[in-house]
Amino acid sequence: MAGGGPGGPHGGPFTRGFMTEEEKANQPKVTPELLKRVFAYLGPYWKQLVLVLICIAISSVLNMMPSILTGKIIDDGLLKQDMRALVFYIVLSLATTLGASLIGVAESYINTWIAQHITYDMRNQMFKHLQRMSQRFFTSNNQGDIITRMTSDIDGVERVITSTFSSILSNSLTLVVALVAMYHRNWILATIGIIIVPLFTIPTRQAGKKRWSLTQESQAYNDEINGILNETLSVSGQLLVKLFGREDKEYHRYRKVNRKMIRLNIKESMAGRWFRVVLTTFTSIGPMLIYLVGGVLMMRYDSELTVGDISVMVALLGRMYMPVNSLLNIQVDWMRSMALFSRIFDYLDMPVEIQSKEGAIKLQAPVGDVEFKNVYFAYEEDRMILKDISFSLRAGRSIAIVGPSGSGKSTIINLIPRLYDVKSGSVTFDGVDVRDIDLESLRAQIGVVSQETYLFNGTIRDNLLYAKDDATEAEMIEACKKANIYDFISSQEDGLDTVVGNRGLKLSGGEKQRISIARLLLKDPTIFIFDEATSALDSISESKIQEAIDPIIKSRTSILIAHRLSTILAADEILVVKDGQIVERGSHKELVSAGGVYQELYETQFSKAEE
Ligand code: ATP
Repeated sequence: MAGGGPGGPHGGPFTRGFMTEEEKANQPKVTPELLKRVFAYLGPYWKQLVLVLICIAISSVLNMMPSILTGKIIDDGLLKQDMRALVFYIVLSLATTLGASLIGVAESYINTWIAQHITYDMRNQMFKHLQRMSQRFFTSNNQGDIITRMTSDIDGVERVITSTFSSILSNSLTLVVALVAMYHRNWILATIGIIIVPLFTIPTRQAGKKRWSLTQESQAYNDEINGILNETLSVSGQLLVKLFGREDKEYHRYRKVNRKMIRLNIKESMAGRWFRVVLTTFTSIGPMLIYLVGGVLMMRYDSELTVGDISVMVALLGRMYMPVNSLLNIQVDWMRSMALFSRIFDYLDMPVEIQSKEGAIKLQAPVGDVEFKNVYFAYEEDRMILKDISFSLRAGRSIAIVGPSGSGKSTIINLIPRLYDVKSGSVTFDGVDVRDIDLESLRAQIGVVSQETYLFNGTIRDNLLYAKDDATEAEMIEACKKANIYDFISSQEDGLDTVVGNRGLKLSGGEKQRISIARLLLKDPTIFIFDEATSALDSISESKIQEAIDPIIKSRTSILIAHRLSTILAADEILVVKDGQIVERGSHKELVSAGGVYQELYETQFSKAEE
């Protein structure tokens, strides 16, 4: 799902003027299914659409009137020297123009209204869908891409509806009205006028191809610029830049892409300028032909043609060429629009990997027994991460998982709230396979404090209420006291209303952790899961966290990934994991003298940490 231009990957070198084979291949396939799906979004707004159509129809006719009235102004006003007729037709002509403009205002209002409502529906649908996507989706997709899908792609759809669709409609109607009016007046001149229309297609098609390829390139650079901004202007990115002294290098990297962007933008705004010269020349041939043939008919063949008639034909021709030109040009917009829709549909069609199955069980009076039976798991097809994991955690008891880094400890706990599903074997909660339990009711029973504490930008109170919307002040204070963070909070001027900063970065690691423990205590789950941070905190901070966690481990069903001896000692049972397998289990006393992995870990890590 790499972020390419609409419908495709990045463009090629600058010198190219036409679509490459690759780009051609990446043009969206406009299938009937795609169109049906796109138009399905318009369905609920058919009444408004009919109104738009009526507006467009009326304004197309009104817009044509001044051209037709030119004939009257010349024949009945000027040539007959009739002042009243002259003024009348001039006023009528102005009035129709004004009328068409007013209707145009109504049309754009309804149009915008429809576009806003459709994109509102689409945004909601997309957000809802993305929220249901599995952890795997978020770890394997670029965050920038996901956000682009939600923002600029959907904004693009809005533009499609307000401009592309309505431009197709109004240009087609204007064209039809102009053709009818021309043929109604004089079929010979009308035919001569449209004979040169096919010539328009040549420059327009070339310009279209050029625009399409430039769009692709500019989208690619946009992605690149967004990528650089995302990486360097985020809090952690900036920190990295500063600490490695990369400011200049990043600036040059940015400037380089920015520079390329200028060249592209100039190219884009000049795209097809030469073709337009050719087009303008062609466009001026039509009226001359009409003057010539009209003149010959009038002078040599004594036809009924008047000067007014010829002027009307020329004026109508001018009216007709505009929509022809726009319609020929619209091909690129159309392709771009379809590409946008297919990008959005690609995301909407991604299956939701983990969801409640039909008739899933809602947990009533949960106890909190967890059992792993011969669990195998892999993130990627051919690399098994967990192999034959079996253990059980009885309600009220606690298990500590220890093992070398990368051995699969976090992976084991990810399977309990179903962030991922097992490859084979099973994980059960109160004797029921977690895949058979309603996801929401399962996750309500499980509380996790992960290695990386995530706090939302807001106040401490906001972050606490995230766990329990209706928590009272007293409940919050109690949870904070238990989590050993209350003293800190009350020492702050704003207390619970202290702002935690972007991702909680205004707080220390230890403070963040304790707030997240308080948040968990408010949620009051059946099972507590702690993924103890590997990063060292100072000993005061550590002991404060320890004091908060210890009573939970001793009194509640809990499972913890432990890196410190004191946490390990608080647990009822220890599982030692290595290379995705449980290699030892038992109590500290049993394991420390067994001469295995645990003893080694104890000697190299735990006892040292304790010192
Ligand atoms: P640590 O103590 O360092 O946190 P851990 O024992 O918790 O390590 P896991 O995070 O479970 O280890 O990772 C186990 C293995 O799975 C590692 O080799 C890791 O590279 C791999 N892994 C983890 N997450 C993913 C993922 N989302 N996609 C692919 N592989 C992953």
